[in-house]
Amino acid sequence: MREHILNEVEDYYDEMVEMRRYLHQHPELSFQEDKTAKFIADQYHKLDIPYREHVGGNGVVATLKGAKPGKTIALRADFDGLPIQDEKDVPYKSTVDGVMHACGHDGHTTTLLTIAKIMKKHQQELQGTYVFVHQHAEELAPGGAKSIVETGVLDDVDVVFGTHLWTNTPYGVVQTSPKEFMAGADRFSITIQGKGGHGAMPHQTRDAIVIGSQLVTNLQQIVSRRIDPLATAVLTIGSFQAGNTFNIIADTATLTGTVRTFDPELQDQIIVEMEKVIKGTCVTNDATYEFNYEKGYPPVVNHPDEAALILTAAEQIEGITKAEEVVPSMTGEDFSYYLLKKPGAFFFTGAQKDGQFYPHHHPKFDFDERAMVLAAKTLMQTAFLYQEK
Ligand code: MN
Repeated sequence: MREHILNEVEDYYDEMVEMRRYLHQHPELSFQEDKTAKFIADQYHKLDIPYREHVGGNGVVATLKGAKPGKTIALRADFDGLPIQDEKDVPYKSTVDGVMHACGHDGHTTTLLTIAKIMKKHQQELQGTYVFVHQHAEELAPGGAKSIVETGVLDDVDVVFGTHLWTNTPYGVVQTSPKEFMAGADRFSITIQGKGGHGAMPHQTRDAIVIGSQLVTNLQQIVSRRIDPLATAVLTIGSFQAGNTFNIIADTATLTGTVRTFDPELQDQIIVEMEKVIKGTCVTNDATYEFNYEKGYPPVVNHPDEAALILTAAEQIEGITKAEEVVPSMTGEDFSYYLLKKPGAFFFTGAQKDGQFYPHHHPKFDFDERAMVLAAKTLMQTAFLYQEK
């Protein structure tokens, strides 16, 4: 019966394209996705699948109980657009000025709604329970995932899976990792308050440029001397602004930078170490400081068994030419919050259009719509295999 269900996705292809293009024409910004949420809720209403709206914000969560006992599996799709002007020359380009589905979340939404439709049709043969998590606001911190998880939607869930249609990857290829898959990307700023004065009388000042320079060097020792050499972390100072002219000692300096990690504990350790280094350097120099650290999404860290299951499932699907383990991407995703709560894994479904490549978040971004079929099949097959485990 499983093969039969998977093959049914093909029958819905035209419908999927139509739905995706409708969503593509009507994108909404993160945290403002009222109409998209309503659209999704309406679909579940029509399907007669129980659903809840306004979950942790604009989230929509539907639950389908199969007639046969089994495990509870959550599948997640995000649905927000981006503040980008659509520059594609296609009939389905965005109708909203300055807003665009430039990351494929329209495709994710369509994929998950199609899975729900097919599973509903086969509810009598269906094993276990399915929680369809339609998540708002992936693109803008603090994101929708954290608040959705906090409402408890995963409490009774055994496992969670999700995919991203990915144009960096050719159509037909599925990629994941048994561990770190996407990075945690944070930003920080440090303002040093010294004491300005005449360039010829440094003893009367607290030179913010000298202090800032020490700080740049001292901060580099966190990764090189405080962190396990086998762990992965980057600490970059990206800007250093201070001073106005050649003969005045600067009273303030502002440094900004980014930290990238794949391990939440390491991320916390780096913040603590930074504070120590900044404080130490400033105290030594009789200066004060302000340190602002903004955590981005935590890294997406897959669980090994679930990642392996995705690759096994993908290999069984016609049309998938390669299912492979890859090194982590430095991009971020708030799917991390689901994986901090429950076992599961996230994967890329290759969606590069033939002979045309625009990266995610590009004004001409588009994806190969056939990839939605492979994404749906891979998610369903992974879920079916999980039920048999
Ligand atoms: Mn995205």
